[in-house]
Amino acid sequence: MTPQYETHEHDVLIIGAGGAGLRAAIEGLAQGLSVGVVCKSLLGKAHTVMAEGGLAAAMGCVDSADDWRTHFRDTMRGGKLLNNWRMAQIHAQEAPDRARELEQWGALFDRTDSGNILQRAFGGHTYKRLCHVGDRTGLEMIRTLQDRGVQMGFDVYMECTVTRLLKDGDRVAGVFAYWRESGRFVVLKAKAIVIATGGIGKSWKITSNSWECTGDGMALAYEAGAELLDMEFVQFHPTGMVWPPGVQGILVTEAVRGEGGILRNKNGERFMEKYDPKRMELSTRDVVARSIYTEVREGRGSPHGGAFLDISHKPAEYVKRKLPSMYHQFKELADVDITKGPMEVGPTCHYVMGGIRVDAETGRSSLPGLFAAGEAAAGMHGANRLGGNSLSDLLVFGRRAGLAASQLAKSSAMPSIGEDQIAQAQREALAPFDQPGGENPYQIHYDLQEVMQNLVGIFRNDEDLRRALVELEKLKERARDVRVEGSRLYNPGWHLYFDLRSMLTVSEAATHAALARTESRGAHSRLDYPKLDEAWGKKNNVIAKKGETMTLFEVPLSEMPEELKQLLAEDK
Ligand SMILES: Cc1cc2nc3c(=O)[nH]c(=O)nc-3n(C[C@H](O)[C@H](O)[C@H](O)COP(=O)(O)OP(=O)(O)OC[C@H]3O[C@@H](n4cnc5c(N)ncnc54)[C@H](O)[C@@H]3O)c2cc1C
Repeated sequence: MTPQYETHEHDVLIIGAGGAGLRAAIEGLAQGLSVGVVCKSLLGKAHTVMAEGGLAAAMGCVDSADDWRTHFRDTMRGGKLLNNWRMAQIHAQEAPDRARELEQWGALFDRTDSGNILQRAFGGHTYKRLCHVGDRTGLEMIRTLQDRGVQMGFDVYMECTVTRLLKDGDRVAGVFAYWRESGRFVVLKAKAIVIATGGIGKSWKITSNSWECTGDGMALAYEAGAELLDMEFVQFHPTGMVWPPGVQGILVTEAVRGEGGILRNKNGERFMEKYDPKRMELSTRDVVARSIYTEVREGRGSPHGGAFLDISHKPAEYVKRKLPSMYHQFKELADVDITKGPMEVGPTCHYVMGGIRVDAETGRSSLPGLFAAGEAAAGMHGANRLGGNSLSDLLVFGRRAGLAASQLAKSSAMPSIGEDQIAQAQREALAPFDQPGGENPYQIHYDLQEVMQNLVGIFRNDEDLRRALVELEKLKERARDVRVEGSRLYNPGWHLYFDLRSMLTVSEAATHAALARTESRGAHSRLDYPKLDEAWGKKNNVIAKKGETMTLFEVPLSEMPEELKQLLAEDK
């Protein structure tokens, strides 16, 4: 086959134009390097744009007692102490600077009466800590970072999907990609690459995630030889829409609870009193999601299998000002006026704490030349993420990964990529057009979502997880014969062929890790092992490819310095 593709070169290549990717790109540009950003959707449309509630940073603008130590403690406790403590520390210490910097670049956060940044309460945070712009914080963040990046001059390859990482020996040296519109192939070479491709929610049937969240970056890294960490920790956000069916899973921001929203069951009982009487609705997401699920299972759910969330006791003008998207979302999609009555809500697959295993300081993966940041990377959030800690994570570790990638690029020559790898990537990409009698990818995706929703959901057990692994094997077998009709010109079936491959990889990794962890911790709830297990509290699960096999091994947590242990021991 004669390879036909265009080629571009950059010092640093960023895969993903969400908050993490854009922040990494800005850092590369600040180092005076040539930076390319490649993304599946249009620039400005990355999943981060959907973030609503805010960005957590211990700035003490509203609660002056707040500081990084409390933020660190909240994050570690929320993550059930499985977090990479160094990442949690860096995050808590650097988030305020990153928020201020965003403001200097033009982000307009909501203000207090005295003109300070207004910070709101959120689950698991001791103090009011979330800088926000109503319930459209992600939009402001993307707008600001994008303006900055465009002004500084990055090259953007948008509507362009990366399908393989390419290597020079052991080192990552570039990517193979295709333009989604024309189907034409592209090879992007770089001295260092940052993966910032976001989450994996599209493997589940009910999810708040956008179409982009198919775990591509994690699967690309895994296939190329990098390690994945703690993939069992998948967060189910307690409040997604449950009705009507077409909008099931769409997020109802935690800001509703942050602004005083109350959860009740069908009998009108404020059931959080039973599950977390101290924090009530502002308990952590894992606890609230399990509480709603338990109410439903025990017959006290709302008509469509959820709970009622009510903010209508607040003045209508206040609700419309603080939660404009929620007001419109319910009015337009469910014909419910949230200033007058409750919303019906239930758990939705929202975020993955697991991802590419990285070094805390630099975002460096175990593969030379490859870095990762944002939701695609793991470690920061342990067994459960606190709301608001993702947007700050994107800025803190996006910057660090961008900086470390730039430092590597400055001291490296442009690697070379063998034609054989490119030809192989091309053959693989074209294979589904030549499958006689193969199946279309939509049915396989549908079946995958059923498997993950029903067998690897909020509550798990040995039998279901083993069944899931058997089902995933069958799905992988079917996926090998996927057939795509039509041509390479904007072909959604072909796009799904690539996405499906990634989703199968990350689903298998999540299921393997969930089966291995025989305890309940944070977002991982095992009905057959309902308690925390001290031994499991000392180790992470790592997944890597050995030959053609997905293997899992445990690694001990690194020892935490004494002063941080003291912080965690304080009874606050
Ligand atoms: C509805 C909703 C509300 C949320 N609200 C909040 C909040 O208020 N506060 C908070 O802290 N967190 C929130 N989160 C979580 C947070 O938004 C995400 O964790 C975060 O935005 C992920 O950012 P990212 O930069 O890692 O990736 P993303 O924003 O997901 O961006 C990924 C990028 O990678 C690109 N990409 C993916 N695969 C490929 C490929 N194969 N080739 C090329 N490009 C690719 C995509 O096109 C995209 O540009 C929310 C999540 C949801 C779903």
